[in-house]
Amino acid sequence: MMNKRGMVTTVQTRIRTEPFSNNYDLVGRELGRGKFAVVKKCVEKATGKEHAAKFQRKRRKGQDCRGDILNEISVLELAKDNPYVAGLHEVYETHSEIILVLECAAGGEIFNQCVADNDDAFTEQDVIRLTHQILTGVAFLHNNNVVHLDLKPQNLLLTSTQPLGDIRIVDFGLSRRIDAHMEVREILGTPEYVAPEILNFEPISTATDMWSIGVLTYVMLTGESPFLGEDKQETFLNITQGVVDYSQEVFEGVSALAVNFIQTLLCLSPEDRASAEEGLNHPWLNGHASLTHTPLATLPSLDEPETSQSESEPESPSPSP
Ligand code: ADP
Ligand code: MG
Repeated sequence: MMNKRGMVTTVQTRIRTEPFSNNYDLVGRELGRGKFAVVKKCVEKATGKEHAAKFQRKRRKGQDCRGDILNEISVLELAKDNPYVAGLHEVYETHSEIILVLECAAGGEIFNQCVADNDDAFTEQDVIRLTHQILTGVAFLHNNNVVHLDLKPQNLLLTSTQPLGDIRIVDFGLSRRIDAHMEVREILGTPEYVAPEILNFEPISTATDMWSIGVLTYVMLTGESPFLGEDKQETFLNITQGVVDYSQEVFEGVSALAVNFIQTLLCLSPEDRASAEEGLNHPWLNGHASLTHTPLATLPSLDEPETSQSESEPESPSPSP
């Protein structure tokens, strides 16, 4: 059942009412916190397995938010077989809060490597692999008519950092169902990563997530946030004007294909943006990774890949820029 704002509040998971502490021990420091949630590492007593427990109050600012949390649970259920979305193990409810027991992404937020100096920062090769995983997860959501609407480094986690592991998408608190008969118009998300249509109060679509992935890829490759201004106002203005610095200076040592990939996403008009499937087919993510640092003009013909990746299809990649 879907309500007017694209939220689904019917869930399959059994909501447990026995005390969480009967079945889990909290261990170590907290894993992170967001606007409303605190996330702590825990060990399931019966299995000894580690998980992440996300504690959320049902009332926020005097408003009942139980429906929002159920919506989050329903998206996690939908994506349970997708490897790049953090798995949901169990749900507990007390009089004041709901606790989601999630797969623990021990490597933490990709945010840390985005702001890191050279030694800890991602290489382009890392970013190619991680972007492919993010797009695979997001394509799954979009194929199921779900938009995430809060894709940013704090909500993209890693299974490990050394060696660099795999992506786990978390935080479906703002996610919505979209279908042809419904227009979602809401002001949502974090300024830096928010798409122009949200600021202009135009309908939200799967393209809204694609904008955020464009910003994200820019940040992962350069360590700089393309639209960040001195304050919220200036950031919003930068976004709605859509001016992006693609200069050599910012993209030093980054391939021209990577820049082209970002350009297919940071388009002001949602219709012009590449979809998740189109992104997955972009040559940057398809076997030309070894050509990092090579200017585009000197690349061999894109329809003759010299190396085939482990899971690549037999047919030649379709260039989509
Ligand atoms: P909020 O909705 O309040 O933003 P999130 O779901 O984003 O809550 O969780 C807040 C933070 O907790 C995340 O940014 C991340 O650092 C950490 N976190 C969330 N889920 C997990 C998880 N499954 N494994 C490890 N850390 C997590
Ligand atoms: Mg979050």
